[in-house]
Amino acid sequence: MATGRGTREPRLVTGSRDLDECVAVAEKYAGEVDRDGRFPHEAIEALQTAGLISPAAAEGRVIAPVSEVCGIVRAVSAACASTGMIVGMHYTQLSALARYSAGNAYLRELLADVVGTQSLIASSTTERATGGDTGRSSCAVRPSGDGVALAKDASVISYATQAQVVLVTARRADDAEPTDQVLVACERAHLELTLTSGWDAIGMRGTDSSGYQLTATLPGDAVFDTPYRRILAEDMAAVTHVMWTSVWLGIADAVVAKVRSKLAKEGGSTARPANSRFYEMLAKRQMIDSVCAAVREEYERADGEPSFAAALRVNALKTIASDNLVEIATAGLDILGMAGYANGSPLSVGRLVRDALSAPLMVGNDRIRANSADLTLIAGR
Ligand SMILES: Cc1cc2nc3c(=O)[nH]c(=O)nc-3n(C[C@H](O)[C@H](O)[C@H](O)COP(=O)(O)OP(=O)(O)OC[C@H]3O[C@@H](n4cnc5c(N)ncnc54)[C@H](O)[C@@H]3O)c2cc1C
Repeated sequence: MATGRGTREPRLVTGSRDLDECVAVAEKYAGEVDRDGRFPHEAIEALQTAGLISPAAAEGRVIAPVSEVCGIVRAVSAACASTGMIVGMHYTQLSALARYSAGNAYLRELLADVVGTQSLIASSTTERATGGDTGRSSCAVRPSGDGVALAKDASVISYATQAQVVLVTARRADDAEPTDQVLVACERAHLELTLTSGWDAIGMRGTDSSGYQLTATLPGDAVFDTPYRRILAEDMAAVTHVMWTSVWLGIADAVVAKVRSKLAKEGGSTARPANSRFYEMLAKRQMIDSVCAAVREEYERADGEPSFAAALRVNALKTIASDNLVEIATAGLDILGMAGYANGSPLSVGRLVRDALSAPLMVGNDRIRANSADLTLIAGR
């Protein structure tokens, strides 16, 4: 079976940089990445060199636990949210590959390869026909020669051309229901990506979330044995929202730091309105942090499919964190005034506000709220 590996020379991870250095690199290039809407090569390469794209874990685990990676994602996102989002999205895919590859030698080898070379894994769930409905696919896996083939009209795939692997959702077969989905590991060598739309968005401009017609011819073992519905329920939903929230906390940290610096410099009465608005920002950030920690701890303790209540909490994390982030970012802008509004000012929050606005629509909050309401009504609680 041709695995297609070897298209990229494995690079030795030196561990010569630490997280602070990586954050400094991300910060240095964040403005340029945003202005030019380009992939943050410098910061991603720094993280790769530091072994922080797929941090290894002690005690025999292949990858570091979620709690450890949250800290990396948050710190990097405060400097450049696009870079942090790439790391967070990659880790979500890595987590699924690590957890559901047991018993599949092909996927196990792929995992070792990705960790060893600190390569990126991208994700393709969004499809032109189904939008942000991750639980349904239109495209299907079909038999092809000794293996399988797949064609997907993928309207958004972040950093697809920079990734070694894209994990793609699809229907199990041509005659399968839209909800009968599998996850497929598409290595670069098996993939053809034809650009259908570019990425010129108001925020998160470095994620290169372009649209592609994706076609792949793959070995049969590239299809995960575990149904996608279970992978999503047990792992991906929680990890995705915890990672995204870590990015958003990083953005909140950066806005808070700018407001703090302005208010501290000004001194004056602690009773002034700006101080109480600042306090509200801090309280909202604390709330996001607490809900995220609760979901993360529940995920790390869980064994198998989460309870109904836990699934609702994962959904709630997404809507609470994203809505409150937008409020934190715009409140920061209000307090900073022109100093925050002007591009190029040391207190500018332009990029941070624009990046924050992506949070409620990365899988639309209304879609998530409707899903939670349906679940609750069906369960009669
Ligand atoms: C920075 C960024 C990076 C991304 N990276 C990736 C990636 O790497 N891979 C990937 O697959 N996708 C990616 N996405 C896509 C993302 O996760 C969502 O799936 C996508 O943004 C949803 O697209 P949409 O808003 O056009 O579609 P829709 O899901 O159709 O939503 C449109 C609007 O309709 C509402 N809506 C839709 N259905 C319902 C419903 N049933 N009830 C109530 N309201 C509803 C939504 O809430 C939303 O307001 C990325 C998005 C962003 C912003």
